[in-house]
Amino acid sequence: MKNQFTLRCRVCHQPIGNPYISFDRRTQQYSTTMWQGEPRPTITVQQAQEMFQYDSQECRAADELQIVAELKLTTTHPESDRMTPCSRCAAPVDRNLPHVSYGYIEGEMTDCNITNVIDDTELAVLCKKCEEPDDPPIDAAAVVGIEHKERSRA
Ligand SMILES: [Zn+2]
Ligand SMILES: [Zn+2]
Repeated sequence: MKNQFTLRCRVCHQPIGNPYISFDRRTQQYSTTMWQGEPRPTITVQQAQEMFQYDSQECRAADELQIVAELKLTTTHPESDRMTPCSRCAAPVDRNLPHVSYGYIEGEMTDCNITNVIDDTELAVLCKKCEEPDDPPIDAAAVVGIEHKERSRA
């Protein structure tokens, strides 16, 4: 069976399969859900839009400076705290409200879906003034919850 459509790496232009790394713009929101009797922080992604794709972490890393310049970021890799400074203007972003987040996902491409996600790294979080969050989707099925990964701190 032939793929009608082959995704190619933005940097080296090779076809992408495994690993598959995408750079996404998301509108997301933090909340707390109860899981096995314990409150658990959850990220709800309301909208996700794939912007660029890569075939390796090397290519992704090679493109990071370009993306930082395009998005006019002054800081990268924000903390996952509820109140986090905007990666462009440093204004506080309340993550319990819908906000724009840019990040990388690494997984495998199978039948036009990303599966076996092994990495999900946030590059930037933006305040409302810098980028307005998208309206929630009308199709509720598009809403996906992702487990919130706690980061260890020094
Ligand atoms: Zn590449
Ligand atoms: Zn901002």
